[in-house]
Amino acid sequence: MEKYIKAETICNFIDGCLAHEDKITDIEKETLCAIKSFIERTPSADVKPVEHAEWIEGGLTFDKETCSHCGKSVSGTYSSPSFDCPKYCPECGATMKNPHYHSVEIDYDY
Ligand SMILES: [Zn+2]
Repeated sequence: MEKYIKAETICNFIDGCLAHEDKITDIEKETLCAIKSFIERTPSADVKPVEHAEWIEGGLTFDKETCSHCGKSVSGTYSSPSFDCPKYCPECGATMKNPHYHSVEIDYDY
C-alpha cells in the first residue's frame, strides 16, 4: 500500500534541520536542499484522508441505517423493503466498517 504524506510537513522538517546549519556538514546541507527541491518539483496527487464510519441501524424508522460520519441514511421501499448498506457511504464516501445486506422479512399472516 502506498503511503501519502504532506510535502509541506517534510519541507518544514528539512527547514528545521537547515536552521541548525552549524551542526550539519556542507554535504548534509546540500543533500537536504536537493531533497527539498525534489519534493517541491514533484507533481502532487489528488488525495484526501480516508474517513472510516459504520452503518447504524434504527432512527425514527426501524428499517433504516445511517452513516455514523455524515448522517446519510439508506433504506428500502414499500415494494422492496430490504436494502444494501454498501462498503462506501454514497454521500460522504467514508469506508464503512460493517457493509451488509439489510434483509427485511415480511409477515403475510395478518
Ligand atoms: Zn456518510
